Amino acid sequence: MSTKNDALEALSDLLGPRLNRSDSDRALHGRSEAHFQDMPPDAVAYPETTAEVAEIVRLCRAAGLPLIGWGAGTSLEGHALAPRGGVTVDFNRMNKVLEVAPEDMVVTVQPGITREELNTGLRATGLFFPIDPGANASLGGMASTRASGTTAVRYGTMRANVLGLEVVLADGRVIRTGTRAPKSSTGYDLTALFVGAEGTLGLITELTLKLHGQPEAVRAAVCAFDSMGGAVDAVIATIQSGIPMARIEFVDRAAAEAFNRGAGTDWPDAPHLMLEFHGTEAGVTEQMQRFAEIATDFGGQGFRWAEKLEDRNALWAMRHNAYRTTLRAYPDSDPLTTDICVPISKLAQAVEETAAEIAAAGLPGPIVGHVGDGNFHALLLPRKGDAVQKAAAVKLAASMAERALRLGGTVSGEHGIGMGKTKYMRAEHGDAWDVMGAIKTALDPEGLMNPGKLLPGN
Ligand SMILES: Cc1cc2nc3c(=O)[nH]c(=O)nc-3n(C[C@H](O)[C@H](O)[C@H](O)COP(=O)(O)OP(=O)(O)OC[C@H]3O[C@@H](n4cnc5c(N)ncnc54)[C@H](O)[C@@H]3O)c2cc1C
Repeated sequence: MSTKNDALEALSDLLGPRLNRSDSDRALHGRSEAHFQDMPPDAVAYPETTAEVAEIVRLCRAAGLPLIGWGAGTSLEGHALAPRGGVTVDFNRMNKVLEVAPEDMVVTVQPGITREELNTGLRATGLFFPIDPGANASLGGMASTRASGTTAVRYGTMRANVLGLEVVLADGRVIRTGTRAPKSSTGYDLTALFVGAEGTLGLITELTLKLHGQPEAVRAAVCAFDSMGGAVDAVIATIQSGIPMARIEFVDRAAAEAFNRGAGTDWPDAPHLMLEFHGTEAGVTEQMQRFAEIATDFGGQGFRWAEKLEDRNALWAMRHNAYRTTLRAYPDSDPLTTDICVPISKLAQAVEETAAEIAAAGLPGPIVGHVGDGNFHALLLPRKGDAVQKAAAVKLAASMAERALRLGGTVSGEHGIGMGKTKYMRAEHGDAWDVMGAIKTALDPEGLMNPGKLLPGN
């Protein structure tokens, strides 16, 4: 077994200046977007090829050094922190489109490319990659967290849109999973296993992704509702009626007010739905009419339609910036984000119970959600340094997780487990969590791949 210093020296020989041990780079890779304390790695590696990733893994393994994948660092549960030090493998130099096959509607990419870079590169093909977690995340990170976002209601999550992967395992082997074919019936679905594994089973070095045709017509809209229950019931009725919504997002009154304060909008002081329709001109017109009828039945009013690209972009930029806008509106807060998902029939109950509990706790907690697929978030905002409010926020987050499970849902619809939600895994998965642990032990017996995340005893 070599020592940590031997391994870092050997990595330095392999990568030259692409192994960075500076305090500033370690600090940058030791912090997250959320409330976790900083946990920097010993070094940051910037590979350019799969062969380099495999060699990094072999050298780290020989010294027992943890390996943590890093895409854009936007994950929200401390996923990419380094609680046991080690080497963070930052994929931002592996950011190429390797092959576009328009006839098969697939693309093969390196993991460090971001979703915005990919879609810019695809523009001329008439195709696009729809998964949109708001942040300009990397495809490797999105696959690893099984991300979704505003468009999952129409196009599915990363689970449905990753066809195949190349992965470097903990022992340095390089394997391929999946094919370009739209389906396969050949054994265990290893692609699905690595999608959502949060880098605990291996490092993804290539992804083959499903593409979709850019719609001929796109319209977006926002409308206000008399009550939160009306907005949520309108969502449920819309989904059950089969209107193929491209986006249907809920914004509660507190979130609308935070938008007005933090982003200078002039929305009515009310809950809102934000919508997008994709299709042909005739199809979109029909979808809009059908939605408007449903929404009106549930108290929807004051529709503002956005047809031009720049108006739609402005609308969705506001939704994507909801987190940062809300923090601007509450600058002295210590935020705690939540993420639960329930079956659509339980959505109204889940949102109403959550809102009532937040109101009773006496701290701000705007709710927004990708409600078309039963997924919503509360951004709990205890005052900085206020231990009582902080404890109340932690209790509210735990209560939301329990509510999700009670209603037949999950403690995370899209953000994942990381370090923040392992405490709920036993309750959600029971013995199946131990099965995840057994898979981990089989593939990474030394526990070097992203330790401290997702798994029992990890
Ligand atoms: C403002 C804001 C809004 C957000 N909204 C959404 C949303 O709507 N929906 C949603 O799903 N998420 C959302 N997120 C969370 C975040 O964007 C996603 O979790 C995203 O998928 C993370 O991608 P990343 O490239 O930043 O990954 P990172 O944070 O860099 O890494 C995430 C995890 O993947 C692992 N990893 C990264 N690359 C690899 C690789 N190549 N191989 C193996 N493991 C790897 C890391 O070790 C870590 O465990 C939001 C975040 C922010 C800040």
